[in-house]
Amino acid sequence: MNPDSLKRLRSWFVKNAAELPWRPADLNALRDPYAVWISETMLQQTQVSTVREYFIRWMERFPDIETLAKADEAEVFKYWQGLGYYSRARNILKTAKIVALRHGSTGLTNQAQGPCTMPRTRKELEALPGIGSYTAGAILSLAYHQREAILDGNLVRIFSRLYELDFLPMDSRSAAEIYWGYAREVADSPKAYMHNEALMELGRTGCKIKAPLCEKCPLAKSCKAFADGRATEFPPTKKRTEKNWHGAVLVVESADDKILAVNGGQKFLDGQLALPHFESARNATKGLPAKAEEYINADEIESMEYRGTFRHNITVHKIECDILYIKLRTNANHAGTGEKFAFQWIEKAKAFETFANSFSLKALKKVF
Ligand code: SF4
Repeated sequence: MNPDSLKRLRSWFVKNAAELPWRPADLNALRDPYAVWISETMLQQTQVSTVREYFIRWMERFPDIETLAKADEAEVFKYWQGLGYYSRARNILKTAKIVALRHGSTGLTNQAQGPCTMPRTRKELEALPGIGSYTAGAILSLAYHQREAILDGNLVRIFSRLYELDFLPMDSRSAAEIYWGYAREVADSPKAYMHNEALMELGRTGCKIKAPLCEKCPLAKSCKAFADGRATEFPPTKKRTEKNWHGAVLVVESADDKILAVNGGQKFLDGQLALPHFESARNATKGLPAKAEEYINADEIESMEYRGTFRHNITVHKIECDILYIKLRTNANHAGTGEKFAFQWIEKAKAFETFANSFSLKALKKVF
């Protein structure tokens, strides 16, 4: 998301942030990590309007981790009754006991050690019962103001609409990575806490599932789905079925040891430096595919070898790709390349550190 969009998002949030019992009046204030943890856990699968009263009653009875850690399950359940999903309450109690026990286990007095509070790293938080990547990110960014990303249903809906992502994070590992990439981009700022919370609020009150309020949205200027009049078509309602794709990837080496790379404009890895690739039938090994001539001049080829096939998944695509290793008789600066793509020649010795996607790296590993 560009800086202007983030600035508009912050101004919108400052003007529109709802008053909530777990949200201080000063939106820039550090939060109590315990309160963030409890409120975010209560909010999982439960409406804000319901959680309000529960949160207030809970904090009156269990104002901090140590008080909670001393409670028994029956009493904790009493304060949870009506929120459903009792495993959440059970995990909260387990985690409180673990955190309190560790806090008291060093032999230092509490005063020397500071107050008993939630851990400050994602690794430690995610190791606790009931704390997943979302809650850990919320605690780290809202309470400790760390540059940590969060991704919940609200943010998924917003990212899906902003960038017209027609897949869900649960579709595949690479699909999840694309969503987390956008979440990390938003969090890569000293104001990560505000960006994260503003997006949660926007998803809840503006970018609604059925009737998004696009006209009033601070992100409308950069929202692809809004521009195309397709906001409610995103995100897809269910997991997409996998699609098979067969193609060829070219490892083109110039006479002076450089490798041809393309930046965007292809089927996969848009906006990334990647090896040239294109859809092809399963007989790519028999001679130079016609599509390859969009990348290189056939009469500059010194040799061409088929170097096997690899499998790879990107979003919903199950890819099978033949690798063609092509050596040119010309140096990189003399080699003819097509005009359709943004080409770049990179040093062969630096190829493995230059490509940042496993699609290209898998192909290179079969050649070098
Ligand atoms: S413009 Fe509409 S669809 Fe896009 S993020 Fe805003 S509310 Fe959501």
